[in-house]
Amino acid sequence: MKFGGTSVADADAMTRVVNIVRRQWDSQPKGSRPPVVVVSALSKVTDGLIRTAEFARSGDAARAAALVNDLLERHIAIARTLTSHQRAGDLVKALRAQFDELGAAVGLLAARREVTPSNHDAIVAMGELASSRIVAAAFQEQQLPGTWVDSREVLVTDGEHMVAVPDMDATCRHATQRLAPVTAAQQIPVMGGFIAATKDGVTTTLGRGGSDYSAAIFGACLDVEEIQIWTDVDGMLTADPRVVPSPRVVPHLSFAEASELAYFGAKVLHPATILPAVSKNIPVRILNSRQPANPGTLITADARREGHLAALACKRDVTVIDITSTRMFGAHGFLRRLFEVFERCKTAVDVVTTSEVSVSVTVDDTRKLDDIVKGLTEFSEVEVEPKMAIVSVVGDRLHDDPSVFARAIVALDRIPLRLVSQASSRRTFTFVLDDAHVQDAMTRLHNAFFAD
Ligand code: ADP
Ligand code: ASP
Ligand code: MG
Repeated sequence: MKFGGTSVADADAMTRVVNIVRRQWDSQPKGSRPPVVVVSALSKVTDGLIRTAEFARSGDAARAAALVNDLLERHIAIARTLTSHQRAGDLVKALRAQFDELGAAVGLLAARREVTPSNHDAIVAMGELASSRIVAAAFQEQQLPGTWVDSREVLVTDGEHMVAVPDMDATCRHATQRLAPVTAAQQIPVMGGFIAATKDGVTTTLGRGGSDYSAAIFGACLDVEEIQIWTDVDGMLTADPRVVPSPRVVPHLSFAEASELAYFGAKVLHPATILPAVSKNIPVRILNSRQPANPGTLITADARREGHLAALACKRDVTVIDITSTRMFGAHGFLRRLFEVFERCKTAVDVVTTSEVSVSVTVDDTRKLDDIVKGLTEFSEVEVEPKMAIVSVVGDRLHDDPSVFARAIVALDRIPLRLVSQASSRRTFTFVLDDAHVQDAMTRLHNAFFAD
């Protein structure tokens, strides 16, 4: 059971979590394995910690310290509301020790004006460490047998800081050693998502939104019956609710559809979440922690659903790179050199379209854009267009009905389309357009396909 940032934002939200977990366990047969609970940092805390790291990098020790202090106060206030007596004292002491250590580290980094990726991960990990400690204590206070487990002792990754890649074998070994005895003793492990460590014990993180991924990894290792992602919406919706007014809940999705939607911008699921679930064929359910009785979205190997479409997704603020061959190479040599540049710059490409002499790709990570352009310019002409967006139409059975594509194009009438592609999976149509047109494009597609 994974609870996101808004589901643990304050004492009321955490009390809802206690009730949801209690109801889950009460509904299970006596003596069955208790749930494992994974929590994100409190809403906005990861953003605050990233800002702290930025202040340290710019040498602004005073603002970094002030921010650490604000974060400590917010956590302590919640801890005091949820716990009492000795437990409150112990929890506040643990939080103070944690944030004091953070404050000292940030002070040193600010003096040096240097924050390495490893320092960055150590700083942002504080969010999940603190939230998970508070939730574990709240469980105990409410007579739910919660045991705090430091997820860095379970989740093992490589050393690629900020986007670390899990080592499933090592993680599953640790899960058996560290978590299985806790659940066997009828205790509920409470852990932070998103954070992990290398095999040498150096703190790493899985990338923004990575708590979903942590939960799926633990779930696969422990071979659980279901992976539940508790969040602030009623499930996977037919479109991003921040873009399209009143989208509907999709009751059932396939693993492939959910992966595709997450990859193309449906933030409710981290794009890697489905992988561990697929490996063990474990259903994933997305649920609303404010409306726990609602059925949510169930994700399984096959979607049992009427209709050809699952949902729409959009990924905003992407960059299109047009690369035109200066014809020094044959087409195959051109493509090889082109993708080698992206590989060297460790930058993933999302959408690709080609014509005889030119290739267009979209990237969402522009940190290495200058290096990419420099590398490509050695053998091609390059044009870069920022502020674009990818709009995707997703459904396993899209290809069963050839009229779907035509209806999408008609709905997008007069909106300039920069790139158009259909993935070989044939479960996604992708349109790349100016970010300024996203709302209009998504609303029109939603009206065309999901209007009552
Ligand atoms: P959490 O903190 O629980 O992990 P996130 O903010 O990461 O929550 O994800 C939930 C948010 O995802 C929703 O509030 C919504 O704004 C956004 N979202 C984008 N696309 C979709 C979609 N298709 N269905 C549901 N939510 C979506
Ligand atoms: N707290 C982390 C973030 O904000 C991870 C997560 O919430 O899933 O990105
Ligand atoms: Mg999330």
